[in-house]
Amino acid sequence: MYCKKCNSKAVIRVHFNSLPLCATHFSEWFESKVEKTIVDYNMIQRHETVGVAVSGGKDSSTLLHVLSKLSTKLGFDLVGINIDLGIDGGTQYSSLSTQMAIKNFELTGVRYKVLKLKESYGFSIDEAKTRIRRPVCSTCGLVKRYVLEEVAKGLGANVLATGHNLNDMAQFVMAGYHTGDLQNLARLRAVLPAENGYLKKVKPLFLSSEKEIMTYALMNKIPFMVDSCPNNRRVGGPTSDKLRKMLEATEDEIPGFMTRLVENFEKRIRPFFEDLPKYNLGKCKICGKPTNSDREICSFCALKIKMGGAKENVT
Ligand code: SF4
Ligand code: ZN
Ligand code: ZN
Repeated sequence: MYCKKCNSKAVIRVHFNSLPLCATHFSEWFESKVEKTIVDYNMIQRHETVGVAVSGGKDSSTLLHVLSKLSTKLGFDLVGINIDLGIDGGTQYSSLSTQMAIKNFELTGVRYKVLKLKESYGFSIDEAKTRIRRPVCSTCGLVKRYVLEEVAKGLGANVLATGHNLNDMAQFVMAGYHTGDLQNLARLRAVLPAENGYLKKVKPLFLSSEKEIMTYALMNKIPFMVDSCPNNRRVGGPTSDKLRKMLEATEDEIPGFMTRLVENFEKRIRPFFEDLPKYNLGKCKICGKPTNSDREICSFCALKIKMGGAKENVT
């Protein structure tokens, strides 16, 4: 298999399996694909400050490297964020992930902040796992959403970028169809506009497959954590896992299937959900963030109280 552009050895076929490319031409193609995604979907404007969440895994590390290359051309400022969640599980998962994130911040020269959950909020995910009855990944997701937003705002960011990829998005779309959760589908956006005091959230890799991201990371020698979190069970559990495998098998049979599924959802289907009645929001009496109107405090503050042993009610 030879590169269609220069005839040297190809490393991957892209564009619905029709375009074999060598490492150099693939890297160029991948970077311009991410750039086109950012521009076409109005993800980032000139002079904005983008906080990029970097866990140390392949997706977020690749996103950091590509955004740092695009930042001058597209005229935005970039700041890296890593949260040390305090997950050990016998593998020192969090401290190794944080070390990997720092390595990538230093390689790209992007200014960054590492927040240690235990030091800043008084508890770790390992501790929450043993004391909170909800599934650990649900607690962890809640913590990451809240803390990333706080850190990004503290660093002056007005956009928060995450490394969700095409396979993740296809899985979320399918899971939404499967459960019929329209509110969840309505929130599943490549660009979530700033509202209710929250930052704009963007997913610049949402049309890039895991295979493309992995190839880019390997070809560009981007260091990343190979080991997954010891709690790793995809959010949504075994059904979501099966949906993901089914989608990946279908992609092998019908190249471009996931791209069409996700692009058609984003452009043609999701806009129908925009008129769905929204939840009535109240204000958390502790942190002032939006919360369901039937609750006085938000889920994160409730978690913090429970972990700190305070006496308020926790739901
Ligand atoms: Fe958090 Fe679960 Fe992801 Fe581990 S697998 S980092 S616990 S969401
Ligand atoms: Zn080539
Ligand atoms: Zn709160």
